[in-house]
Amino acid sequence: MKRLGTWHYVFLVALVAATVWILRNRADRPMRRCEGRIFGTTYHVAYRHGADLRREVEAELLRVDSSLSLFNPRSTLSRINRNETDVPDSLLVEVLRKAREVSESTDGAFDVTVAPLVNAWGFGFKNAENVTQATIDSLLPLVGYDGISLGAGRLRKRHPAVSIDCGAIAKGYGADRVARLFDRLGIPDYMVEIGGEVVAKGHNAQGGRWRIGVVRPSDGAGNDDMRLMLETDGFALATSGNYRNFYYKDGKKYAHTIHPRTGRPVAHSLLSASVVAPDCATADAYATAFMVLGLRESRRVLAAHPELQACFIFADEEGRDSVWCSPGMERWLSR
Ligand code: AMP
Ligand code: MG
Repeated sequence: MKRLGTWHYVFLVALVAATVWILRNRADRPMRRCEGRIFGTTYHVAYRHGADLRREVEAELLRVDSSLSLFNPRSTLSRINRNETDVPDSLLVEVLRKAREVSESTDGAFDVTVAPLVNAWGFGFKNAENVTQATIDSLLPLVGYDGISLGAGRLRKRHPAVSIDCGAIAKGYGADRVARLFDRLGIPDYMVEIGGEVVAKGHNAQGGRWRIGVVRPSDGAGNDDMRLMLETDGFALATSGNYRNFYYKDGKKYAHTIHPRTGRPVAHSLLSASVVAPDCATADAYATAFMVLGLRESRRVLAAHPELQACFIFADEEGRDSVWCSPGMERWLSR
């Protein structure tokens, strides 16, 4: 038998030491969890770390809430909407820049200035008014992403009645902020979920890939009836759906995505859009835009954006729900 050389011994010892180090590290750094409520929705966070970071996570989410939430009357955005200030904080600047980028590449389907319409249709923080065509016509001139601009530390509005709703991007952005906090601390394994928008990295508590379900879009949507199951060791995913927030009036369904040009809630066969993007704010914004654009237009946008992947659940001709996923999505789909 050939004798092992010195280098083989060195290699073996290093291998054993590395394995022991990894196992000890796992034991020293358990998967910790925290959850709560933010921006009128829930969040769940899991992270592998030696210390409890609940306070740091909450502080980061509060920072986002104080900047962007319309449920918080003292937030920067609420004050900007009431014209009490025109100075956006750094978080709002980052989000509005991203929002504009997505507006430009979706031909205005994504538009944070839909706020007056969101309120009129009863999806904001005010109760629904009786929406007539005259109401819509009076509000449409206030809507349009070029009605706001950033420059020299100020936010300019075309008209004082222009108002902004970042509800379609804030959850994803909040998930990104917590993920960045974990990255700064060198945390290898985590999952951050805010209202269904997710950033996952590394491995779960069992050392396997993170498993994330996309619920079957239906009016009585239970959270455990999954239509798609995704497995990942790192991505940002957001889902928009017309089953998430809607009401029926006179037998007609009104869902919370508003078409910025017609001023009305969108109604088409696309039931939900799940988007994977380099960050969760981007995924969140595109998921909403795709709900406005519908299946055909969304696929056209996807073809022009290789950094995005998506799965769409839509009602086929027989009314059954069908799924279309972009080719790059395949590697995360679990069978
Ligand atoms: P999401 O669940 O991310 O699709 O966000 C839906 C929320 O975004 C709605 O409740 C509105 O507050 C807001 N919203 C509705 N329509 C649009 C739109 N076309 N562009 C941007 N935000 C919108
Ligand atoms: Mg969204």
